[in-house]
Amino acid sequence: MFTGLRARLIVSYIVIILICLVLVSLASILLLSRFQAKLVFSGLNDIAVPTAFRVNGLLQRDLTPVEIVELLKEQAEKQEIRILLLTPRGQVLADTQDDWTGKQARVALSEIPKDPKTPYVYGSLTTPSGDTQLYVALSATPLRLATEGEESQRPVFVALLASPRRGLRTVLKDVANRFLQAGLVTLVVSLILALLIARSIANPLQRITAATEEIARGNYDQALDITSPDEVGRLAASFNAMVHEVKASRQAQRDFVANVSHELKTPLTSIQGFSQAILDDTADDEVSRYRAVEIIGSEANRMSRLVDELLDLARIESGQIQMLREPVDLAQMLESCVEKFALRAREGNVELVLDVPALPLVTGDKDRLDQVFTNLLANALKYTPSAGKVTVKAQEVTKIRKKVGLASTVEISVTDTGTGIPPEDLSHIFERFYQVDKSRAGQDRGAGLGLTIARQIVEAHEGSISVESVRDLGTKFTVSLPVVKRSY
Ligand code: ADP
Repeated sequence: MFTGLRARLIVSYIVIILICLVLVSLASILLLSRFQAKLVFSGLNDIAVPTAFRVNGLLQRDLTPVEIVELLKEQAEKQEIRILLLTPRGQVLADTQDDWTGKQARVALSEIPKDPKTPYVYGSLTTPSGDTQLYVALSATPLRLATEGEESQRPVFVALLASPRRGLRTVLKDVANRFLQAGLVTLVVSLILALLIARSIANPLQRITAATEEIARGNYDQALDITSPDEVGRLAASFNAMVHEVKASRQAQRDFVANVSHELKTPLTSIQGFSQAILDDTADDEVSRYRAVEIIGSEANRMSRLVDELLDLARIESGQIQMLREPVDLAQMLESCVEKFALRAREGNVELVLDVPALPLVTGDKDRLDQVFTNLLANALKYTPSAGKVTVKAQEVTKIRKKVGLASTVEISVTDTGTGIPPEDLSHIFERFYQVDKSRAGQDRGAGLGLTIARQIVEAHEGSISVESVRDLGTKFTVSLPVVKRSY
């Protein structure tokens, strides 16, 4: 029960509305009953003065309290009050309802001030029968006489009592109906509003849930058009971004599998073909058989290289390979790297130039950095025809960076005068398996993973790699690595 968000919202709204209604009603009833009591007092006050005046007159005509009360009974009945005549000690001399004559009334007569401007006391008392009555008491003896000390005039007080007919219960009875009506109208209006609000909150969430379930079922074409400026809107935007990412990564996964299969299929087909040729004696002479075995060997090597590169890439990307953080002398490393390619350059009639001054140390993994420049040099020589030139240059560059202040990097460039890379391919060159023209590099072509691995290594060193190229003129790869901060 009430498990849905919408139902829970509505129920909580109803509970809050009901609590508010009850509180408001109680506060109003309390205020009303106080107001009613004030009305009773002011009614009693109005009658009190003329009554005291009348009692005073009758006393002067020497009527006994009982006789006086007899005369007041009709007035008391009409005005629905009770009139008592009291001694200064509170003894009831006469009562319009007779029962209290001779008894002691708990009325604060002693507090009736002598000041003729405020000659009253008022309050509430509990009758012997247990109900509460409001009273107003005042002196019925002419003040002048009393203060002049004429003992002949016995001081007499008049108390007028009225039951607070308009007490809490009466007030409730009177206003309950109206309160109920107002409450019902409020409840209905609030309910409609609550329904609308709950719907506006729950609907987008239901749509997001439905879309999430669709994704769980493998249907990734989900886009939510919820544009509200609140948290739900932000959730929808994040959801859309997430779906986009998931789709892209699924696509990348598919492309990856397709690429790997394709790269493996070519050497495998070759191996199958040549081994079959040996088996069914199509390669019948010694030379053909030797050639077939040679090709099988080289294709197996290529497959092994591909698998190695894939493993390498996977390990670097997943962070399994921890790069060493040791000081590396780049000048020395580049020199030995260039030396490795000297023979190949000479064979290809390509001039290989090293233009590297003494460089500050960088922090990193020497073997991994060596792998980067080996790859760049191998590519440069591969794509540079005879009589071309490959130059390795390096320099320290100091720039002012925000927050960091002065930051030094070493920039190493490998420039060739080779075939160049077409502008449309330039932005994809670091993507996995990306090759500009698969037929171009011939037998020793790679799988398009070398630059991807190079970029991963450089980025793991907090560096960057970029490329510039002009078709048929040449290509320049620039690697930038941060210099170790010197501590003096
Ligand atoms: P591969 O192992 O196939 O060479 P890389 O990732 O090293 O893969 O290079 C990707 C592609 O970039 C290559 O296939 C080649 O087309 C192009 N390329 C790389 N370096 C150069 C260069 N110096 N000159 C021209 N093209 C290059």
